[in-house]
Amino acid sequence: MKDLKILNAKIPNFKTDTWEKADILIDHGTILKVGTVLADTKETIDADGKIVSPGFIDIHAHENQLTGGDHDFFTAACEVRMGVTTKVGGNCGDSYNRLEDFCSRVNSQGSPTNYMMFVGQNSLRQHAGADDRYQPSTKAQLDRMKQELASCRKYGPVGLSCGFEYAPGVTTEETVELLSALEDPGYLTSVHFRADGAQSVSSIDELVAIERRSGYGMQMSHIGSCSAVGYMKEALARIDAARATGVDLTCDCYPYTAFCTGIGTAVFDEASFEKWDYSDLMVTAGPYKGQRCDKALFEKLRAEEPDLYVAAFVMNEPEVALAYQAPYVMVGSDCGFTDGGGHPRGAGTFPRVLGRLVREQGVLTMMDALRKMTVLPAERLNLKTKGEIREGFDADIVIFDETTVADCATYEQPTLPPDGISYVILGGQIAVRDKIMVNGTLGRFIPYQNS
Ligand SMILES: [Zn+2]
Repeated sequence: MKDLKILNAKIPNFKTDTWEKADILIDHGTILKVGTVLADTKETIDADGKIVSPGFIDIHAHENQLTGGDHDFFTAACEVRMGVTTKVGGNCGDSYNRLEDFCSRVNSQGSPTNYMMFVGQNSLRQHAGADDRYQPSTKAQLDRMKQELASCRKYGPVGLSCGFEYAPGVTTEETVELLSALEDPGYLTSVHFRADGAQSVSSIDELVAIERRSGYGMQMSHIGSCSAVGYMKEALARIDAARATGVDLTCDCYPYTAFCTGIGTAVFDEASFEKWDYSDLMVTAGPYKGQRCDKALFEKLRAEEPDLYVAAFVMNEPEVALAYQAPYVMVGSDCGFTDGGGHPRGAGTFPRVLGRLVREQGVLTMMDALRKMTVLPAERLNLKTKGEIREGFDADIVIFDETTVADCATYEQPTLPPDGISYVILGGQIAVRDKIMVNGTLGRFIPYQNS
């Protein structure tokens, strides 16, 4: 007897831009049939006309550092409840464990979602002793970074991630030289830009230059927090122009108007308050949780608790919407919960796009929104059996009600699971049923196929 059938499914066909009504037969983690399924199976789900989508692929995520404690997969456990079945960690220049350790831990004990990983440039810098974020690395340090990056290849990284805004001392030169250690332009570079706002266009120019000089595909991180502050039109025009000349540049974006990061990072160096007010910043954890900053509170927390996350309300929602309307912008959560703190995007990004942007605001069609969460990131990541509901594809699936799907996570309660998602299926087995994660060990490490 086969494992599972899903009856009365409404399935997106991204090629024809139409919806199909069908049943789905699943066995051993694979979709065996899409059509009419009469066979008896061990388990049956009646989707009752709800949308049955490929599992969401979060191309821009952060992972928790694996220490062996309870918090190891906290962020991924929030993600799977919003439909994410595969996430890409190690972004923005930071990968918190050595790749070898991370992938062996996920493969031996499982995780709430599948993982793919970038290797972070700023983490490589730290390992090599280049720990002053305002200084370029020395030749000897860069050689050590190249060695470590090259040695990661056998574990299947997606490529190199960069966090220029966090490490102003990193040069374009260093990055191009470091990338050469991967020795194969089939890998990707993901870059958290150097500066936002008025400098976002020149930041994009730097990404284009890196793509041109290295030949590695470029994934621009969270374009909203770079340019949805009065500069999105210009930024998209710049990217359109580069793409028209053959530059392989795509982006991701999260559907919120606040970004969130550590109060001690270079993002909040003094000059940043020429463009922002202290009161734009909200503390996300600890005794001041929920409180807006003033200069005194900001300076106290930056000195005493540099790792504390603050949310900064600086973006314009219509500009975030504009970003999503570009065909090369995917949905990426940028999630990452620390102990007790964080941004609701880690539990709300995907349902928020489906509920708020699609249903309430009509910014995107349901088909286009799902495309940005499934088949587009699957193609970008060379995942040849993910991103579509098709025979022979992996049975990573989300079943949701398009009339009720909505994010519930808020800045006050950032980890609340969404409404409207009835099942999340990972590798053919039920991971989430009605907001509850019933199996948090179905995820595996997916080595990136660089060709
Ligand atoms: Zn980032």
